[in-house]
Order: sequence, then structure tokens, then C-alpha cells
Amino acid sequence: MTRVPTLCRHGTTRFEQGIPEPLTLNVHSTSHLLADEAVTVESAYPLIGPGDPEPYSVYNPEGKAPVLLVCDHASKAFPRAMNQLGLADWVLEKHVACDIGAAAVTRYLSDRFDAPAVLAGYSRLIVDLNRKLEGESAFVKVSDGIAVPGNMDIGEEEKAERVASFFEPYHGAITEQLQRFQQRGIQPAFISVHTCTPVFNQVVRQMHIGVMWDQDARIPVPLIRNLAAMDGVCVGDNEPYSGRHPHDFTIDHHAERDELPCVGIEVRQDLVSDDAGAHKWANILADALEAVLSDVVGLDTGPGPVNKL
Ligand SMILES: [Zn+2]
Repeated sequence: MTRVPTLCRHGTTRFEQGIPEPLTLNVHSTSHLLADEAVTVESAYPLIGPGDPEPYSVYNPEGKAPVLLVCDHASKAFPRAMNQLGLADWVLEKHVACDIGAAAVTRYLSDRFDAPAVLAGYSRLIVDLNRKLEGESAFVKVSDGIAVPGNMDIGEEEKAERVASFFEPYHGAITEQLQRFQQRGIQPAFISVHTCTPVFNQVVRQMHIGVMWDQDARIPVPLIRNLAAMDGVCVGDNEPYSGRHPHDFTIDHHAERDELPCVGIEVRQDLVSDDAGAHKWANILADALEAVLSDVVGLDTGPGPVNKL
């Protein structure tokens, strides 16, 4: 069966199923097809078309550790229909588009602890998955001095489509993973992995790893202590960002509400911008986390489940 993409009324690629109908506007050069070949399929997500990535991925879904890792800003991807919000390619290589190295650090932590991880599939510039949807900060107009043309005049309908396509599926996947723990009678640790630019608004950051937290000290306080005791590691306590940021969403929504032990991590991007760096700093972080997770959620650190990388 032939699939033919057509432009929907909002100018985005949409697929509808089953009913042959004449081709309308076609964004993928298939206008040579005969009308009766035109079968369109409704996408599960309004702004995501065939060939685009899924809005999230679950890495190591069968991981046995009582730990869930999440990575809100894992990806710099845009669906083809969104034209990169009018941004040049070089912007997508910058920290404004995604947390450079965060996906690799998350996967290494997942491997080390044998823990499932949920990773976002698209750029934070489309909708920031770690922002409450009220207010403007989920749809940023200017990030670290870079204007985002496609966010300047965004209307409520477009916001709703982005939420349905990216925000809800990602957070739905996290909820599903947490329900799987609940069904097994496990209260997991919730670890949110980010990376931060070494220079932001012309301020140079000295810390290597920042630990973000609010009310729940169970993981952050001993983690900070362990990191601070390591040679050559400079740790930030609620630096470079505060875990008490009022617009943050992911930890507040998924972990604090259900009183899961939780922590937000920021690793400096210049340390993890290549695979060797991500591997090295994931191991440093895991070395500092291992005993804490053993104490707080009963992570089994004996031979077997915790893999030295
Ligand atoms: Zn981030």
C-alpha cells in the first residue's frame, strides 16, 4: 500500500488512512503518482510524519534496577514539516537546541545500573519538556541570545499541536515506566539528566557536575558529599540552576508529587561532548551515585547487576 504525504490545513505533514482521494499539496515529490494510489495515514501525533523520529525512546526498558532515568533535552531533532522553526543548521549544533552529551551520559548510566531510561526525541526549542505549560517559557522566543523565528508568533492552536505531538507522549512514557515499577511494588529513584553550557550569558561555569534538588535530600545531599570527596571533581549544589526553579516540570510532576527519591543532574557540556567524555563522566557520576542508590532504594551493587563500564 502506498503512503502519500499531504499537507494538512496547518501546513504540517499529516497522514490519513484508507480512503483514496486526489492528491493535494505534496511535500515529498510524489506528485507523479496517480490519484488512486494516494492513500494517506493519520499520524498518531499531529506534527510528526513518516520518517521522523518517535517523540521519545525508552532505552533498556527491561532494566532491573529500582531507578528511572529521564533525559528531557536529549535530542536536537525536528520533524521535517517544522522547517527547524526557521533556524539555521548551525544553531542545531548549539546547546540551545539540546543538552549536548546528555543522551550518551544517560545511556551509560542506564547500562551501568541496568536501569530503564526515557529520552526525548525532539529539540527543546519546539516545546521545552521541563517547563510548565502555563506561561511562555515552554515555547522560548530567544535562547542565550538566539532568536527562534518559529516561536515568535505562536498561537494557541500551534501550541496545542506541539503539546500533543511531543510533550504528552514523552511524559506519558515516563508515567508508563513509573506505573511498571508501581505494579512490581517498587518505589524507584527518579534521576533527571541534563547538561549545561560552560559559558552562559557570558558567565563561565567552574563546576563539572551540578546537583539540583528541592525538598527531598535523600539522594542529593550524600551525592554532593561523594562528588565533593573525589579528586578533580568540582560539584555545584543547586548550581548552575536551582532545583527550586518555579517553572521546572519533570521532577515536580513525576517524582515530588509521589514522593519518589529524586535528583536533577547537570554535567558541563564541554566534558561530555564526545563519547569518551560522556563515558568518563557517566562513570564518575555512577561511582558517586552507587552507594547512595543502594542506601535509598536498595540498588543491588553486588556482582552482576551493576556493570562496570
Ligand atoms: Zn537540560
